[in-house]
Order: sequence, then structure tokens, then C-alpha cells
Amino acid sequence: MSIKDLARRAVRALTPYQSARRIGGQGNVWLNANEAPLAYPFIIDPARLNRYPECQPPAVIAAYAAYAGVADEQVLVSRGADEAIELLIRTFCEAGQDQILICPPTYGMYAISAETCGVGIVEVPLTAARQPDWPEIKSRLSDVKLVFLCSPNNPTGDLVGREGLNELLEAASDRALIVVDEAYIEFCPEASVVDLLARFPNLVVTRTLSKAFALAGIRCGFTLAAGEVIALLSKVIAPYPIPDPVAQIAAEALSAKGLTLMQERVRELNAQKARLKAELAALPCVTEIFEDKGNFVLVRFDDGARVFAAMKEAGIILRDFSSKPGLNDSVRITVGYRGEMDAVVNVLRDIR
Ligand SMILES: *Cc1c(COP(=O)(O)O)cnc(C)c1O
Repeated sequence: MSIKDLARRAVRALTPYQSARRIGGQGNVWLNANEAPLAYPFIIDPARLNRYPECQPPAVIAAYAAYAGVADEQVLVSRGADEAIELLIRTFCEAGQDQILICPPTYGMYAISAETCGVGIVEVPLTAARQPDWPEIKSRLSDVKLVFLCSPNNPTGDLVGREGLNELLEAASDRALIVVDEAYIEFCPEASVVDLLARFPNLVVTRTLSKAFALAGIRCGFTLAAGEVIALLSKVIAPYPIPDPVAQIAAEALSAKGLTLMQERVRELNAQKARLKAELAALPCVTEIFEDKGNFVLVRFDDGARVFAAMKEAGIILRDFSSKPGLNDSVRITVGYRGEMDAVVNVLRDIR
């Protein structure tokens, strides 16, 4: 018997998430993980580093609640939104029995977390208009505990339609939780569904500091939900999930000054996104530009593999989605600063 045979069956069968970091690459222009292009300095106070941190640092909770417009008891802070996804599954799904529902193509961690936890996955693909297939999702509600929707959707950039979501929340009342992943919502804040929390106790919204806040390195995310849901998640979360330096940085990023900086960054990146899209639209090798509500643009080329290889050659690392259903020849470009976007366009111009 080998050590491998000791592992759980679900773990033996698991293909780990192919994160941008794991795939790696060689280059100097990193546009493959939807990160912000620049880091900002923070000063850490070491006075409490000998102590265990608070499970839910009150300053961080209060700051995020104020920013999101909800009550403190509706907020949970975790090790990135990824931990929030896993906590939801571990809290609400019985291993070997329950299922989650996902709408591919979408963010990969919903399925990976379910598989690691031994929880089943019901796939209801997006429609041709790249919207959740509302009637089909409703017809599967009795089979699932959690429905994961992503808005803006990674990697297609589409928003989830509000009317459909409203009706789904009603249909799922007392049957399933509807999770809306708003990792990119700062790039189109008007599209947030957080206001619906006041009407629907079965709505859960996940957020992160990894994208618009330029803090992917500290691993800090949030769950917004009814107090009852947050209380259940709090039973499952680790006793000290948020390192004290992370809490200090998060609180500063959520201060008035931090929020202003974030909004300036969003304005600049959205402007660069508009420029990039205009350039792409004029290029003969581009066959489709997907929605652009996040800090990334998914682009279909006449020959996606060729574009990906040419970029790699030029030291520009992008993310290839061509193996995903319906996304043949599609490559996702994270929006960076002007020089990075110019570098991308220059390579594309040279492709014949
Ligand atoms: C990046 C991303 C996350 C992960 O956020 P972390 O806080 O860095 O764990 C979650 N959901 C989506 C859709 C993402 O793109």
C-alpha cells in the first residue's frame, strides 16, 4: 500500500486548480491573473504580532460593512474569496450526498472546492447569450444546495441579469442558497446585487480585495449575507483565519483614502480597457470581443493558439481559454496600464 492509496478517493481523482501562478510562464508583462498592475506600500505595526489575531477583526468588518452598505453581522472576512467559496460548500453541503450548481464557462474554483469536499456538481451551461439558463436552473433547484453565479463572470465578462436573479431567488426560497460572486464588481459598482440582501435571506454575495484593491498578495475576501448565514459560516471557519498584518492592510485599504485610491485605479483601468477594445476592434485577427465588465477582456481570434504563442514569444503572459466549451480560440487579457496594453496591441498588429 502506497501513501497515495491512503488519500481520500476524491483527492486521488482531483486535478488541482490550474491557477495562473501554477501554470506560470516566462515574461515581463503579466496579464494572466486579473491582478492590478502595481503594488502600493503599507506600514505594518508589529505591536500585536506576539498575539493570536481576532477571528473576525472588528475594524476590518466595520470598514467593509460601511463600504458595502450592510450591517456588521452580515459580513464575514476570509482568506480570499476562494476560502469563502469553500466555506459555503463545507457549511451547507453534505459530502457524498449534496450537490452545487454551476454555469460554465465560469470561475474554476467552485467545481474544485466541491470536488475536494466530495460534493457533486450539476452543470447548467450559460445560454447562447451567455446568461444563466434560468428555467433550467429552476428545474434543478431540488437537486442542489448552492447555486454559484459569477457577475461579472470570469472569463466572459458578462453581468448576471437582475430580473432573472430576482425570480431565481424567489423560486429558491427555503430550498437553496444563491451565491453571486462579485470579485470584479468595483469595475461596474452600479451592477452590484448587494441591495437584494435586504429582501432575500437566501442570497450570498462574495467579494475580494484581490482585484480592484490591488491586494491579491494578502489573501483577503468577504462574504455578505443574512446574519443567519454568516453565523453558520462562522462555526466552520478556522479560529484565526486572518493574520494580523493582513487585517492592518485591509483596514487601511478600506479607509476613505484607500477607497479613493481604489476608485482612481478603477477609472484608469476602465479607460485603458476602452482603449484596448477600440484597438482590438480594428484588428483583422480578432473575430469576437466578449463583454468587458471586469478588469479583463476575453477575445476570440481567428487563430487563438498562434496569438497566444506570439504573445509568449514577446514576454506577454495571457490566459488561454480555448479548451473551454464554446470558447475555442479565446484568450483572456487582463487590463493593465497603458504601456502593457500598447505592448499587446503591437504584437497583434504584427500577426498576419
Ligand atoms: C479572482 C477570483 C476569485 C478569488 O478571489 P481571492 O479573494 O483572490 O481568493 C473569486 N472569484 C472570481 C470570479 C475570481 O475571478
